[in-house]
Amino acid sequence: MKMEKDLIITIDGPSGVGKSTVAKSVAKYLGLTYLDTGAMYRAIALQVKRNPLNINNDEELSSLLANTNIKFVNNEDNVLIIFLNNEDITDKIRSPEISRLSSDVATKNLVRKKLVEIQKEIGLNGNIVVEGRDMGTYVFPDAKFKFYLDATIEERAKRRNNQLTQSGNNIGADNMIKEIELRDKQDKERLESPLHPAPNAVIIDTTNLIADEVINRIIAEVKGE
Ligand code: C5P
Repeated sequence: MKMEKDLIITIDGPSGVGKSTVAKSVAKYLGLTYLDTGAMYRAIALQVKRNPLNINNDEELSSLLANTNIKFVNNEDNVLIIFLNNEDITDKIRSPEISRLSSDVATKNLVRKKLVEIQKEIGLNGNIVVEGRDMGTYVFPDAKFKFYLDATIEERAKRRNNQLTQSGNNIGADNMIKEIELRDKQDKERLESPLHPAPNAVIIDTTNLIADEVINRIIAEVKGE
């Protein structure tokens, strides 16, 4: 398949649906760059945790953001490493506390403005798979391929807990369902770029699919099969 120079593939969806696993594999298979925009909101959350402030105070938030530098580097194993002010924070942003706080900071216009600017700049050259909540609706509305992954809340809680087990952060099924419900509500009801499928997105219910089936479906769509 001949790749277009400015190819952008967006993958949006709620927490725990498996976007990262799928987006990473699709990018690898198609030889594209992978961008995890959730990691950016998580980086800001970590910055807020370390420098406690009232996130509802625009002046305080703005001065914190002015001192916040976020960068991505792909390491030799093609793993995305995220740097906050030159510190590798890749392993520090996956806790339930940071998940919660990232959804809080993501409601703030100042935060979104800063991160969307960086995202658009990274996307300028195309050849990229971007995952998040507002990639197809707001950040890359002209993307050639848009996907929206969904799954039942029970299945998403199970997937997220399985992931967290590896880092010793499993919080149990009931607690995870509550966490995800809270985040879903906040992500879907916020005023700034709320989570919803783009009108022209391909919606995939992944509840009964394994990751490879979702990946193959997306690749087939992109290749026009
Ligand atoms: O995808 P992930 O769970 O890492 O995202 C963390 C939080 O960042 C989400 O709950 C959401 O509130 C926010 N987010 C966002 N827009 C994006 C990506 C993530 O608001 N494009």
